[in-house]
Amino acid sequence: MGNSSPGLTPDLTGRKALCVCGRVRPSSTTLRRFVYQGAGSRSATEVCVCGYHSLAHHDDIRRGAVSPTLRNCTMFSPRGDLGYDSYWCGCEEDQEAAASDEKAQIRRLA
Ligand SMILES: [Zn+2]
Ligand SMILES: [Zn+2]
Repeated sequence: MGNSSPGLTPDLTGRKALCVCGRVRPSSTTLRRFVYQGAGSRSATEVCVCGYHSLAHHDDIRRGAVSPTLRNCTMFSPRGDLGYDSYWCGCEEDQEAAASDEKAQIRRLA
């Protein structure tokens, strides 16, 4: 605990990784496309509680958003540690979604 320098492998003990299809595995860097989403990760600091990336909160993008969730989110607020990480189990839903969570979220606005 308490020794989480950015760039170092985070402690994955006890964490779980979730695939877009809902499968859950114990977090491990050996999982395909494993992405740590705990404290200090980009996911925790750059994604809002509303589920959209901080970039999506720029007024121009936000006002034109299809999603009312984003339109109504006037202030970006980092969601922090979600309590789980993400990975890809090999399911077909992956094609675009899991390639990059962040890009997928911005793409949803288009
Ligand atoms: Zn899957
Ligand atoms: Zn938001």
